[in-house]
Amino acid sequence: MRITRISTAVLEANFDWTIVRVETDEGVTGHGEAFVGPGLTAVIREFNEILAGEDPTSIDRLIRRMKASAIYCSPGLLYHAIGGIESALLDLIGKRHKMPVWQILGGKYRDFVTIYADCHAGEALESITPMLKPRTPHWMGGGTPADNDARISVRHHGWDANRPEAVTPEAYVARATQMAARGFRILKFDVDVPMPFETDEYNRGFCLREVDFAAEIVQNVRKAVGLDVELAIDCHWNYGVAAAVDLARALEPARLAWLEDPLPPENIPAFREVQSATRTPIATGENHFFRLDFQRLITEGGLRILAPDVQKIGLWEGKKLADLADLHYVNLTWHNISGPLGTMAGVHLCAAAPNVLALEWHAASVPFFDEIVRDSEGPMIVDGRIRVPDAPGLGIELDLDAAYKYRKPGEAFFE
Ligand SMILES: [Mg+2]
Repeated sequence: MRITRISTAVLEANFDWTIVRVETDEGVTGHGEAFVGPGLTAVIREFNEILAGEDPTSIDRLIRRMKASAIYCSPGLLYHAIGGIESALLDLIGKRHKMPVWQILGGKYRDFVTIYADCHAGEALESITPMLKPRTPHWMGGGTPADNDARISVRHHGWDANRPEAVTPEAYVARATQMAARGFRILKFDVDVPMPFETDEYNRGFCLREVDFAAEIVQNVRKAVGLDVELAIDCHWNYGVAAAVDLARALEPARLAWLEDPLPPENIPAFREVQSATRTPIATGENHFFRLDFQRLITEGGLRILAPDVQKIGLWEGKKLADLADLHYVNLTWHNISGPLGTMAGVHLCAAAPNVLALEWHAASVPFFDEIVRDSEGPMIVDGRIRVPDAPGLGIELDLDAAYKYRKPGEAFFE
């Protein structure tokens, strides 16, 4: 069996969902999903030059071959492309040999994978471009959102800084109650959002009122959901050590499952400073690509929970990373902002490693998440879990007719 062609399609959801298709001369086809990035589909298609004519079952060697080009050109977007291609390769290997991907990865530890719901800041997440600019997807009527010209906050991760009134403890509580009622047992919220008082978005500080407001939000949510629902908080790399420690300590009474990315990702010793000053577990990892950096986060950063991204790392490398973390009794909570295909890829990875807390789901506000899955018998996520599939490959097929309705204008749809 030889690879003949790699092509792409992009759906306009909360983020771009980039689907990779790998075709072979035997007619077996695999699909995978790649992490979003500007110009990504052109990068993915460039890999035709390396992979056409190759045996797709040489998965370890092919990944190394692809990463050699990425190391030469530098990782980032190239790794996003490789993750999507790798997932499609595993899907087609599984289909060819009639094995689910979790079996290729060494077997499964569990029949259901716990899904945690990313609840943002209590309101539905807007759709954003690969450059984090709000947009109205074409299937919602298209055009440019009226507030597109508003100042988009650097600090607040694509949020419109002119709308702090959208952030209230009541909105968080309402969202938490709603998601807990849907059966989710781990919820994640953002507190690095525009607050109803003046803050500086560049100095990595956290004023006293911000700390207290964040603590009030989290305490209210904890009170509303009780102790049966675990809570995590995401800070999107916005603070410095002092502010991070202040926040982490203020949130200690809420007994968080983890506090995610309080610091920018690159300064690993700074994570040790924060973690050693608080009993709130600190997690990071979605910006890292190399196993060596994850090892440093454990040994130099003193972290006990890592949060790598499924699509950036890939399933094959993800299994190796899980093994490395397990040597240190470190658990993984996998970051995931993808659609159904990428989410199911994460399910296989989470099934195949012992030290997994949960897999993220970011798409609660996307109305077509289940609609674009072929032959589905109801929603993929039931009671905050996904059943590990036994069908060959990733065990999920997209309904391409349904998916086509949500394609991104200007992008190929596997043509
Ligand atoms: Mg995050």
